Amino acid sequence: MHWRQPEIKRTKTVCTYCGVGCSFEMWTRDRHILKVQPVIDAPANGISTCIKGKFAWDFVNDPKRLTTPLIRDNGRFREASWDEALDLVAHRLLQIRDSHGPDAIGFIGSSKASNEEAYLTQKIARAIIGTNSVDNSSRYCQNPATKGLFRTVGYGGDAGTIEDMEKADLIVMVGSNLSENHPVIASKLKAQKKHRGQKWVVFDPRKHEMAERADIHLRPNASTDMVWASALSRYMFEHGYADQQFLDARVNQIDEYKRSLEPFTMDFAAEITGISKEKLIEAAELIGQAKSVCLLWAMGITQHSHGSDTSTSLSNLLLVTGNYGRPGTGGYPMRGHNNVQGASDFGCLKNMYPGYEKVTEEKNRDKWAKAWGVPKEKLSLKKGNDNFTMVKGADEGSVKAMFIIGEETAFSDADSTSVHSGFESLDFMVVQDIFMSRTAEFADVVLPASPSVEKDGTFTNTERRIQRFYQVLPPLGDSRPDWQILTDLAKRMGYDWGYTHPSQIMDEAASIATMFQGVSYERLEGWQSLFWPMQSDGSTTPLLYTERFHTDDGKAVLFPLEWKEPAEAADSEYDIMLDNGRMLEQFQSTNQTGRGPRIWSQAPNWFVEVSPELAAERGIEDGTWVRVTSRRGSVEVRATVTDRVAGNTLFMPIHQGKPGLNLLTGEHHDPDVNTPAYKETAVKLEVLPEK
Ligand code: SF4
Repeated sequence: MHWRQPEIKRTKTVCTYCGVGCSFEMWTRDRHILKVQPVIDAPANGISTCIKGKFAWDFVNDPKRLTTPLIRDNGRFREASWDEALDLVAHRLLQIRDSHGPDAIGFIGSSKASNEEAYLTQKIARAIIGTNSVDNSSRYCQNPATKGLFRTVGYGGDAGTIEDMEKADLIVMVGSNLSENHPVIASKLKAQKKHRGQKWVVFDPRKHEMAERADIHLRPNASTDMVWASALSRYMFEHGYADQQFLDARVNQIDEYKRSLEPFTMDFAAEITGISKEKLIEAAELIGQAKSVCLLWAMGITQHSHGSDTSTSLSNLLLVTGNYGRPGTGGYPMRGHNNVQGASDFGCLKNMYPGYEKVTEEKNRDKWAKAWGVPKEKLSLKKGNDNFTMVKGADEGSVKAMFIIGEETAFSDADSTSVHSGFESLDFMVVQDIFMSRTAEFADVVLPASPSVEKDGTFTNTERRIQRFYQVLPPLGDSRPDWQILTDLAKRMGYDWGYTHPSQIMDEAASIATMFQGVSYERLEGWQSLFWPMQSDGSTTPLLYTERFHTDDGKAVLFPLEWKEPAEAADSEYDIMLDNGRMLEQFQSTNQTGRGPRIWSQAPNWFVEVSPELAAERGIEDGTWVRVTSRRGSVEVRATVTDRVAGNTLFMPIHQGKPGLNLLTGEHHDPDVNTPAYKETAVKLEVLPEK
């Protein structure tokens, strides 16, 4: 309660718009959200928030919120009771499992829902259906980064904290538009640059705000980052910047890795990346001379056909220069969704139980079966389908049912036309969401869920920091928190889990998964937070790898790589590469930021950025209508002429459009993790008459 206006309630919550994990107090009177008030105790952000955290909450009371279950009848949705809807879902899922086998069903968990809800999503998939086919939206973004970190240092998370990024002498930002995607971290780093002279090197084809402010901005050709990273590693060995003491003591496979660097001369790197040798050497010297380096990367790296290899090459470079395990060092894959880290940590992955315990190992299978009270034969030792293979399997007939929670797959997955065809082929589809999304339009049953402000739970931010959020408002209408829906569904399938509060779910996860041992709501009370992995003495781990890497012998691995061409490149017909990404003012499909004028009005229009040189060549001005066509489809959009892009590269935001960007993107993907190569889209550009 507020002391002057006792009818005002103040409740701590955590933002649901990006991986920074800003927490703040939300001031409400009845159902009215009056304001968001940051407080100094907030561990990730202090008194800062960005425009979305401050103003993008109109969606909570939007009249279009789903408030009652819907069942498709003769091609149209009709309202249904919870009993009818959940009985139908339980019956159809069990029927499909019994007729076609457990892997005929796929689950996509939400990277916006809580850790506890991610845990229950995978528990239904594994312990009730018997499949490991469960995934989350990290498949679309940072799975390649996780793969690169697993290969080299062992944990699929940021090596340190936001404070470590602030402490670093030098920040290397690669394919990461921090000022729009992680604005509060961007502000903290800007302060370090201004007041302490922190240096920045930015590798990005696009001249975004951080690139403009950088000490060095380099614009590599699309999909070539692995080449400059490997060339810089070679340069470090040749010019005395390799940290030999660190390598000898803490790293394996040095000679084999050094041999793999043979082809990566600066001349070769200059030829492939399009960056001059002099500029590459300038960047190498800055990195080599810095006392502490944090390397941040995001979807500009991962959404390529070899994003795992590029992520690996970045981690290799940090190892060569000894930039792990000390304050102000390490690799930082910047997490996009607020809980994309947590959704993976808590087991919404085709190959891992919660806490990254492999499903293929019998000892893990036996442990989880015992803890869940199911026969061990019930839990599959086989990796399941991921988002990509689920949808493909649907199209090909091997996957018969999907259960999608809070993900806008029909809009956000690459190659929308194929995704829609997959959904249309399913025998049964359930969508659990807060709005009638484009994905929900394909469903047989739609279950109305509650957003974070209508429930209790925890999220894990990009730093691996677990934070508590509290219920601000009661669920709207007949909507329910996801954890309650899943608990009720499990009961109708014969498994009475008996959870009455999310704290019990966390207690269960923490009692089984070693990584979360000792995590409890008591220890997360108020503004407190914990960093996984938790130690056996109950301590928490803000900075990883101070003594050991997370490998069998505690040593990191320098992972040899070869240069591979991208899956799709420009040719004489599709002569331009299309880049894409987020904007500060919007979030993903705009299902949340598109509601209410306060945030939507800041950036309501879709556009394509065209470089001044390409605009001059094609007769394009600001506002000209253009048609952008790829090998899959075509969209019409207005042009913005700007030097943020250069040469034959376009940029388009991912948010708006009906249909959107993903009508253009293709099904090619990283073979290591099946992440779509969104950023490898060749297009052609035509000028249209004024509409
Ligand atoms: Fe929310 Fe991210 Fe903005 Fe913080 S920086 S307020 S977490 S969108």
